[in-house]
Parts: sequence; structure tokens; C-alpha cells
Amino acid sequence: MIVKDVSAPTVETLRSDILHHLIYAMGKDADHASVYDWRMALSFAIRDRIVTPWFAATKQTWDQGRKRVYYLSMEFLIGRMLEDAAINLGMRAVAREAIESLGQDWRAVVEDEPDAALGNGGLGRLAACYMESMATLGCAGYGYGIRYEHGLFKQGFDHGRQVEAPEDWLKQRHPWEFERPEVAYEIGFKGGVEKQGGKSVWHPGETVIAEAFDMPIIGWQGRWANTLRLWSAKSTQIFDLARFNHGDYAAAAEPEALARTLSRVLYPDDTTYQGKELRLKQEYFLTAAALHDIIYRHQAAGLSLADLPKYVAIQMNDTHPAIAGPELVRILTDLHGMPFDQAIGIAVETLGYTNHTLLPEALERWATYLMGAVLPRHMQIIEAIDAWHLRNNPSRPHYVGIVKHQEVRMGELAFITSHKVNGVSALHTELIKQNLFPELNKLHPGRIVNETNGVTPRRWIRAANKDLSYLISDTIGDVWEADLDRLGELEKHVEDKSFRDAFAAAKHKNKVALSNWIGETQGVKVDPAALFDVQVKRIHEYKRQLLNILQTIAEWNEIRTNPQGSYLPRVKIFGGKAAPGYQAAKEIIRLINDVAFVINNDPYVGDRLKVVYPANYNVSMAERLIPASDLSEQISTAGKEASGTGNMKFAMNGALTIGTLDGANVEIREQVGADNFFLFGLTAAEVMERRKDPEHARHAILASQSLQDVLQMIAEGRFSPDEPTRYHGLVHNMWHSDYFLVASDFDAFRAAQAEVDAAFGDPERWWRMAALNTARMGFFSSDRAIRGYMADIWGTESAL
Ligand SMILES: *Cc1c(COP(=O)(O)O)cnc(C)c1O
Repeated sequence: MIVKDVSAPTVETLRSDILHHLIYAMGKDADHASVYDWRMALSFAIRDRIVTPWFAATKQTWDQGRKRVYYLSMEFLIGRMLEDAAINLGMRAVAREAIESLGQDWRAVVEDEPDAALGNGGLGRLAACYMESMATLGCAGYGYGIRYEHGLFKQGFDHGRQVEAPEDWLKQRHPWEFERPEVAYEIGFKGGVEKQGGKSVWHPGETVIAEAFDMPIIGWQGRWANTLRLWSAKSTQIFDLARFNHGDYAAAAEPEALARTLSRVLYPDDTTYQGKELRLKQEYFLTAAALHDIIYRHQAAGLSLADLPKYVAIQMNDTHPAIAGPELVRILTDLHGMPFDQAIGIAVETLGYTNHTLLPEALERWATYLMGAVLPRHMQIIEAIDAWHLRNNPSRPHYVGIVKHQEVRMGELAFITSHKVNGVSALHTELIKQNLFPELNKLHPGRIVNETNGVTPRRWIRAANKDLSYLISDTIGDVWEADLDRLGELEKHVEDKSFRDAFAAAKHKNKVALSNWIGETQGVKVDPAALFDVQVKRIHEYKRQLLNILQTIAEWNEIRTNPQGSYLPRVKIFGGKAAPGYQAAKEIIRLINDVAFVINNDPYVGDRLKVVYPANYNVSMAERLIPASDLSEQISTAGKEASGTGNMKFAMNGALTIGTLDGANVEIREQVGADNFFLFGLTAAEVMERRKDPEHARHAILASQSLQDVLQMIAEGRFSPDEPTRYHGLVHNMWHSDYFLVASDFDAFRAAQAEVDAAFGDPERWWRMAALNTARMGFFSSDRAIRGYMADIWGTESAL
């Protein structure tokens, strides 16, 4: 066990370290330094204190011959790192004092850091939380991903419409990474396969270099640190000097430019799958580089490949790295001469697969001609794995298998090449067993397990919600950050009025700060005493932002038709990006902005209802909004949201949930208690039943006068007077299709919102409920989730 000396430095020491880096790393003196220079100097001063525990953890893992976990993910949605690192090192207060003593504003320096937005949404953010929890728990391991030059696009609004601009996080120096030019592997694509005796030899037609960039990930109290290793693509051929000398400058730089496209941009869609060659190449690029690295490390320790599963656990975050199975088999057989049956056995024992979605349009399937062209040897191995599986499972039905209808189904491939397949909430795992892989589940009972998602309380409470953190620590001690179940000790204080008042005061303070920010950035004045009703997440039909905005219109209608009524003021806050090619989602964004414009400028309504939609939702905005939220909207069509993690962040921070029985909402409600959760809507089983009625939409709309009125207003162009027909398609779809059952759940949603009003109007009751939410959310720490993976899937133990 290592407990390094991470006692915080004194303000004086840190101050002189900052000045040192300012001068010698940034080349500036204090009189001429910009906020950027100060931020870099501070980051380097903090980074210096990560390096020692990082080296110590690496050395201990080698010395003890520990099994390592490798988390392969195409996305890591990290956000900012500076404040999180300072907090985990126990030096936020000192850092703040030091930087302020140098005349700088702490928040301005912290907020100068661009988000590392190497992910789309929940899946990528989960990977980031899991990296932090692995470091906190002393679970030795690496994260492997791609160092995209451009992360998720920046969202803007032009007359309410989403516009996308490229993201540029690497335009400035990235102080948290170390380039490793000596860690580089050649990755091949295309070409052909040659039979030499009994052996297959792949001769790639194209190659690129994968170069490593390492980011240390420091755990709570600096007791352990792991590495997030991101791969950057480089050309094998640096530069064509002959062409340059001929004056053909563009062509001379071509090989470099072509290679770099591989790590140039993150695919900005997480809910539909497109069979694009570049995406397949990115997936193989990540996976092959990671496996080379893993095998290299294993052999450098003098270990036999037959022992790989004893020392290596590889987790595939969704099917994106599912080529890992065939690649590992290829390495073991073609490169190391192992018999096929032994190789596939080792692959299965080593690999685990996390499924993140049941949406059919999101399940990866690659045309066999594309797989065969890009990865010809892997295509052969995939067919061999499929045949091996059928041989060993002769009762397998004919319609089950990896290769069907000239497509490679990555879900089946990942399942068959893994010893454990996990869902991400109890409900989701059940639905995987029943609907997604029923036959494979029968053939491999026990392979499917559940690991309900979690989020790190260090970032999502301690860093994002300072006042609540102080209240918790003052009440139960500084014990909860690494042992979130201890939040339960708050429960006995919930009956204490002074505790509830302090809880409400912390929330109010966050709401005041958010109101100021909204006023400054959105030009909308909102009352911090109003109920802050927040839905922030990717925009998708299944997440039903449409249901939320239709209900908002209904409330507006109510205020207008009955202006004397008493209404609790509400601020409806939306946030989220749509995939650039997802027209239906973009239409919803435009509708929300159109409705916001009309409502916010309606003098009859005044403070009673406001709608705000700040552009470019990302991790930093989540950290600002969630601690200031009263109500968390988790209203997906039941059966569609695998887990959700936004739902957890809100409830931990004392927001009450209005939600359906979907994903982890089910378990959140069990934990916080049904009385402290606003439930509405059809269940997953009822959804399937309801869809059997081809006229469900029409029936539901005809049964709801208020929904009819709302749809009528939209159809008449009340929110788009310059173009009254703008939403005719949307309204038509509501009447005639409504696949996500917005109409069927509309009245129930409004009724639940009325209950929310009643509860918020009774502060005693509201703050009891809110505080109980925080007290009972311990289960949703990502530490609990990672312990589950370690015990059930990885077979590893903490090094601490
Ligand atoms: C947590 C988080 C998500 C996931 O939110 P869901 O509501 O679970 O979909 C997406 N984006 C960001 C920036 C997040 O922080």
C-alpha cells in the first residue's frame, strides 16, 4: 500500500512554483502574463504533484505483478481537469489562495480551460467517471482512447436553429498530457491475405502510426493514479521530399494529412449508426494500438501469452472496440502461432463487453464487403469465430450468429468473444436478456450481468457544488467523498429544521449564481425563487424534449386563459446538442427556441414562466446547471434509456426527479423512496402493448383537450409567425405516428407536474424530499459501479 505524501503544499510554496512555471515554461513575467499563462502555470504546478503518486502506482503494479484493467472506449467526455485535480490532491483551497495572492481571479483561471470534449454524451462521460473511480479505488489500469484533434462540435443558435462549429481544444497547449513519441505502433488497413503453408499473412495496403499521449488520472486524496493513453495518428511517411522539391507542396504534405484524418474528428452521433469506412478505421486504429500496447507490456514482464487472462482484463465500452476479439485472435494465431481454439478461448476469458443501447438504429453492423476490404484478415477470423461458436453450440438457431445478410453484427461479435456482457441498469439488463440477446443468453446462462452506472461524487458533488459539500462535511464529517453510502448519515438530520434550512440555502445560493449567469449570457431575467425545471442531455426523440416543450406550451396557455389563477413561477431550462444529421431532433431544438422567444416576450406572463436554452451544453455547463436545479426531467419513453447518468447527478445534488420507469430511474426511485420521486407514464411493457394499436396517437390526442389545443397553436404558427407552416410536419407526425408515445404520456406528465407544483409550494415538504434524495443516493457512486466490475467481470483487487 502506498500512501504518498500528498499533504497540500503551503500557499507560499505553490505560489513560487506557479511563478517558476510562468517564467520558465510560459516565458512570461507576472506583469505581462495573460489568464491563459496563469492557468498554464497553475496547471503545471498542480501537475507536478500528480507525477510522484503516478510513478509510484505504476511501479507498484509492476513490482507486484498485478492484473491490469484496460478500458477501451471511443469516447472520454472529460471536461476540465484543473479543479478536479486540485480537489483530488486536497489542494483546492491552497491553489485558490495562491493564485489570488498573485492578483488573479480563481474562477476566471479555472474557467479559462477548454473542456476536453472527446465524447458525445453519457457513454463518454461514464468512461471519464470510471477512470476517476479506478484511480480512487487503486484499480490498476489504463484507459485507451483516441486523441481527437477536434472533439464534439460547438453548438450555436441562428434564429433558433442549431449551427455547428468545429471544436478546437488543442489549439492551446494541453497541460495534462505527456507526448510519448517512443510509444508508437504501425497499424495496417486493407491489402490482402496470403497463405504461407498453414499460416495466414496479412499484407496491409495502407499503414499509419499510432502515437501515444498519456494523461495521468489522479484518484481521491492522491493515493493512486492511472493513465489515460490516447492515440494520435501520424503518417508512416512523414513528407514527400521529392514532390516538394518539384514544387508540388500540397501533394508533398498529402500522406501526413491523410493519416491524420484518422484522429481528426470525433463522430458527433451516439444514437444512430452509419456504416462509414472512416469510422471503422478509427475503431480498428484504437483497438489495434491498445492491443499492441497490452501485449507488449505483458511480454515485457516475461509472461506467457497463455496466461493473458490472469494479468489482463479488457473492457469494451459498447461495441465500438469490438474488433478487439478478432484482433486478439489474429495476434495470438498469426503472429504468435497459437492454435485457433486456444486463442479464441484466451480472448473470451480476457474480454468483457458493456452494452449501452437497445435502439436498433444504434447497433453497429458492418457490411461484409466493407469489413472485408478494410480488414481482410479480420473478416476471415470473424467467420472462423462464428463457425467455432456454432460448432460448440449446435443448437444455435439458424437466425442467430455474427455474420447474417452480408453484415457483421458487432453486438453478437462482442457477446460471443466476451466472458461477461453487462447492461448498465437493472431494467436494461433484463431487456438485454429478454429482447436483445435471448438466444445467446440461453446458450450462455450467467454471461449477462448487471452493473448499474454511477458517477463520481468528487466531480459531481464536491467540485460542482461547494456549498452542499461543505454542509455535508459539516454535518457528517469529511467521510463521504470516497464512501458515498455514508451520505445516509444525513438522514437523521433531515427532520432537523436548521439542517433543511441550510440545505435550501445552499441550493438558493447556486440558483442565484445561475440566475446571474443566465442574465449575463442569455439576456433573460429569471427569479432565483422560481422552480428551476431542467432537462439537459443529448436531444433525441426518445428522450422526449418534445413532451417537455409541449407541456410548457400547455402551462403558458393556462396562464393566458386564466390570468387570475395562482401560479408558482417556473423557469424551464433546456440544454443539449443534436447530431448534425438528425433533422427531427434539430426541429425540436428550433421549436424550443421559438417557444422561448414567444413566452419570454409575453407581458401577460411576466415572471411566472420563462424558457431558457443556453447553447453548447457540455460538462462544464452541467456542473453549473445541475447544482442549481430543483427538478430533474428524466422523461424518456420507457424501455429506451439504457441507464442515464444525468439523472444520478441531479438527485445527488438535491433535485427531485420527474420521470418514467426507465433505465436507472427505476433504481433511483427505489433508493430515494417512491414518495420522493414524481413518477408518471407508461411502463416498458405498456409501451410495447400500446404500440400494437396503430391509432394510439390519434386516440391519445383526442382524449386530451389540452394537447389538442397545444398542437393546434403550433400548427397555426403561433410560435413561427414568419413561417406558419414551419411545424406542420412535426404536428402531422404527432397525429399519425408518434413512435415515442408523447401523446400517450402527455396528460400523465401534466398531472405529475401539478404534483410538483403542490410540493414546491410546501417548502417544508419540498426540502425534506430534496435532502432525502441527497442522503439516499450513495448507491450511485461510480466507486460502487467499479467495485462491481472488479468483482464480477475483471477479477481484480484494489492495490490500496
Ligand atoms: C452526464 C452527462 C450526460 C448524460 O446525460 P443523460 O441525461 O444521462 O443522457 C451527457 N452530457 C453531459 C455533458 C453530461 O455531463
